[in-house]
Amino acid sequence: MLDIRGLYQLNYILMRKPFIAANWKMNKTVGETQSFLNEFISLVQDVKDVDIVIAPPFTSLYTVSSIIKNTNIQLSAQDVFYEDKGAYTGEVSPVMLTDIGCKHVIIGHSERRQYFKETDEIINRKIKAARKHNLGVIFCIGESLEEREAGKTFDVLKREIEEGLKDISAANIVDSIVVAYEPIWAIGTGKTATTEQAQEAHKYIRERLASLYGSKANEIRILYGGSVTSDNIDSLMACADVDGALVGGASLKADSFSRILKFRR
Ligand code: PEP
Repeated sequence: MLDIRGLYQLNYILMRKPFIAANWKMNKTVGETQSFLNEFISLVQDVKDVDIVIAPPFTSLYTVSSIIKNTNIQLSAQDVFYEDKGAYTGEVSPVMLTDIGCKHVIIGHSERRQYFKETDEIINRKIKAARKHNLGVIFCIGESLEEREAGKTFDVLKREIEEGLKDISAANIVDSIVVAYEPIWAIGTGKTATTEQAQEAHKYIRERLASLYGSKANEIRILYGGSVTSDNIDSLMACADVDGALVGGASLKADSFSRILKFRR
């Protein structure tokens, strides 16, 4: 029997549609993308109750966009610049992404923070630019191993949330921004956070979102990312505040990613 707290929790879980996104990073040529989709589309055609998102490299966006028309798959980019157009060699604007059929964009991934020196301020500018053009945002946050071991996990999450979402209104966040908690030490390492660690961080993130957006925080989806596989997705999705996943390595194969999308709670 569920007590009143359990009922509230169930209610929140039910009102947040699971959102599971593939982050292909710098993987797959156009030909490899076509082969993946040939297999993948039929494997997931019956998955109706999950937002299914694929974020290929820029070079495959057009291909994916053309092939997924009239399917249950949505397109995301992996990054965006904050200006609409101009002399910014190598950059891609939100206008270009929506034009090509993107519904979402990943912003603030730890690899961009680490290798491309993206600061909280740059990330905030990118989020505002994406929202200005109606792109959904997959906003990534997460602590390094050193920060976790120094007991600074919550401080890092608080700063990244408050700076990244600075001046973003409540109307602009529900249904438009999902937060992806990705502990850096779990990305690509095969070392997943335990369900207790994931739930603890997600609960904290929801509390911080509540301090900014009040009860709307219960409607914001919080994804877990970091070595998600078909073996651990069920237990992660069973956590009260885990509403989906951002999947790197295990999203590159159609069979493993489709099994992740068919998780059982
Ligand atoms: C990621 O980079 O977003 C990610 C979660 O990667 P992986 O699943 O490979 O750890």
